[in-house]
Amino acid sequence: MDSEGESMEFAAAELTLSPRLGRTVRVLRLPGEGQLQLADSPLLDQWLPTPSRIEGWADWLERRRSAAIGAGIATVLGVVLFFEFALPWMANRLAPVMPRAMERTISDQAMALLDHTQLQPSKLPAERRLALQLVFKDLTRGLPRELDYRLSFRDAPELGPNAFALPDGHVVVTDQLVQLVGEHEDELVAVLAHEAGHHEHRHGMRQALQSSAVVVVAGFLFGDLSGTGSLSVSIPVLLLESGFSRDHEREADRFAFGLLDKHRRSPADFARAMRRLSAHYGERDFGAISYLSTHPPSAERVEAAERAAGLAPGDPAAMPAPVERKGKKSSSGG
Ligand SMILES: [Zn+2]
Repeated sequence: MDSEGESMEFAAAELTLSPRLGRTVRVLRLPGEGQLQLADSPLLDQWLPTPSRIEGWADWLERRRSAAIGAGIATVLGVVLFFEFALPWMANRLAPVMPRAMERTISDQAMALLDHTQLQPSKLPAERRLALQLVFKDLTRGLPRELDYRLSFRDAPELGPNAFALPDGHVVVTDQLVQLVGEHEDELVAVLAHEAGHHEHRHGMRQALQSSAVVVVAGFLFGDLSGTGSLSVSIPVLLLESGFSRDHEREADRFAFGLLDKHRRSPADFARAMRRLSAHYGERDFGAISYLSTHPPSAERVEAAERAAGLAPGDPAAMPAPVERKGKKSSSGG
């Protein structure tokens, strides 16, 4: 090798050549400290072939615009797949190991928020509330998460008839729902069975984890992690802003059908409750809070309930009967 008139000899095995990477300068490392920077040339690879395949791939990629575009698309696709599949999968795995205290904190904070904005103390007579709480206790007896459940009532003139389950098993029913079903208490029990389904499948905690993970992941992607510091404050808000997926609703419905069967009730009660809610709300959505607007009684869900009850679609047995006004109570439930 010639360098300013000086000639040096090296064995090829002693030399290392930096891999070819697009049009970058190649570096030939000599034994000891020395190195030479060389313009890329096909000759270099002939003299000192680089054995690594990966380097060859990297070079190929570097030289192709389509590969760069492809990588961009793959990244976007990866992010989409992550949010669509990986995140729910992780939330599903994590939810069962979340400490009970965490479920409690998130639920209490969400409830405090709702009490502050949408809900008022129940105006139902205390004995009516107690009677329904006993029915709910009976319904949830023997379930894996039996000890978590509690049922409370709230007046919600703006929200209307509704029920929801928080991540710790606290189920809330509005006075308006109790009034809507009137003496047809079986329908209310069917709705409660659905809420128990959400809790047994840990939908609340899964939703809380998923919606908060979105903040963390978005923070990493866009380099702004300031939002994650106050996550403990924002989880309840995020939870209320996100609704259950259709899959969650179907899963809770199926659970309810099984539970009703077990209690010698019928999924037809659920079909009637859904129909009654549909008739009340018409095309209107269930209020502004997503978490509470996730029970849109779709035709598909009514049909599934009828099928589970062994009824033909639209069977009169699955049609809600009118409510006697004056709020007369019936002891037909139990
Ligand atoms: Zn639901």
